[in-house]
Amino acid sequence: MEKRAHAMLFPFPCSGHINPTLKLAELLHSRGVYVTFVNTEHNHERLRRTGTAGGLHGREGFRFEAVPDGLSEEDRRSPDKTVKLYLSLRQSCGPPLVELARRLAESEGVPPVTCVVLSGLVSFALAAAEEISVPSFVLWGTSACGFVCTLRLRELRQRGYTPLKDESYLTNGYLDTPIDWIAGMPPVRLGDISSFVRTLDPKCFALRVEEEEANSCARAQGLILNTFEDLESDVLDALRGEFPLVYTIGPLAAAMHHRVDRAQGQGAAGLSLWEEDAACMAWLDAQPAGSVLYVSFGSLAVLSLDQLAELAWGLAASNRPFLWVVRPGLVAGDRGADALPGKFLAETKGRCFIAEWCAQEQVLRHRAVGGFLTHSGWNSTMESIWSGVPMVCWPGFADQYINCRYVCREWGIGLLLDEQLRREQVTAHVEELMGDTEKAKEMRRSAAKWKALTKAATAPGGSSYENLDMLVEVLRLHEPADAELAGAVTHGAQ
Ligand code: UDP
Repeated sequence: MEKRAHAMLFPFPCSGHINPTLKLAELLHSRGVYVTFVNTEHNHERLRRTGTAGGLHGREGFRFEAVPDGLSEEDRRSPDKTVKLYLSLRQSCGPPLVELARRLAESEGVPPVTCVVLSGLVSFALAAAEEISVPSFVLWGTSACGFVCTLRLRELRQRGYTPLKDESYLTNGYLDTPIDWIAGMPPVRLGDISSFVRTLDPKCFALRVEEEEANSCARAQGLILNTFEDLESDVLDALRGEFPLVYTIGPLAAAMHHRVDRAQGQGAAGLSLWEEDAACMAWLDAQPAGSVLYVSFGSLAVLSLDQLAELAWGLAASNRPFLWVVRPGLVAGDRGADALPGKFLAETKGRCFIAEWCAQEQVLRHRAVGGFLTHSGWNSTMESIWSGVPMVCWPGFADQYINCRYVCREWGIGLLLDEQLRREQVTAHVEELMGDTEKAKEMRRSAAKWKALTKAATAPGGSSYENLDMLVEVLRLHEPADAELAGAVTHGAQ
């Protein structure tokens, strides 16, 4: 039996969870840890088709495995497919994970699984780690401030801040109520905490799931965050009062730069569930430095037709070149670029590139990109900070509001769009972001400062670099000491 730490990683099956977890997997592997990356069978098949994990297949000590997600084809087409997926995994995915770990332990040349690493929203799998008697770690995919806000949802509910009394509370200024009692955080608006405080439903499913998932991280041995110490030092200090073992190892994309040698053919750019449009890179090559606005709302957001039209005409009126990711399903009714308003493409011809999906990290690092209109998803935010690109933010879900608050108010690198999207404001904010006002220059200076700090944090001697090493050391403590432990892992629950 090989004596080596073996991490079995299982992310919630969507891009925002898969990609950071895969990066962590690669980082652990680069430090000598044996890695098993577990996808759902459905995504495993999709990834095989898009071929994006090619660089990782067949590498020594790195394997992909798959477990069923329990969804029917009809469930997959349902508007609440993510809720169905969450429930189905929770109900049926624990035993296949345990079975997989046991099968691996019996496989020739594979060390037994010595720890389980999960993303958020799959806390049911903590029980699987307990069943095979190995420690678990959670890579919670938000900022530290996003995690703390999610932890505090329970208290906000208990203290009567949420659910809202009626619909008027969404617009009557109630969401501006100051929240100044969260340790480590500056006073913020109630509405900044999370989308989930906006519910009117005392039994709101999403609110309960979020607070439960975040609080259940206390059952794990350690919490891993895709952030870095300088970016969120106050909130991290406060968080460590509750969670003693917090490993900040981000930005993951920057950490990869230092640790994973792509020039040697290692690594994958990410697991892309959609095909990446390579032509947009050639289009960017032809644009002047800093001139292009990149527009993307991540993998989950859904816009109404009205919102799409306001955005489209707002961008059109800005007279700036822009690259816009309109993925299939971005528009309500499972629509994509076909839903763009008539004449929009003709009116923006030559300065607009519509892609279904792109290699976002490369796009943000491209010298032509000078701004990012984003939904403030945490991965996108970190990638933008790492690339030194200031943002126009239009948050709409979960932690996106608090990310945006920090981007605009604490880090000085963004402008906020109103919830009610208006084309005039889109144009004005894009002009401001890409223009030459004092405010724009200040944002660019701040973005450059944060970019330099991400580099320092992830370079040898930096906090994220050291924390990754520390995490690997902890994982190594659980390497099997002898064959008996292998037996315990294989038969732990019997
Ligand atoms: N992404 C990408 N290509 C695109 C759009 C997004 O690779 O065209 C990636 C992006 O780099 C990020 C992830 O998808 O890593 C989106 O995660 P985020 O947390 O920003 O948003 P979510 O999809 O979870 O809402």
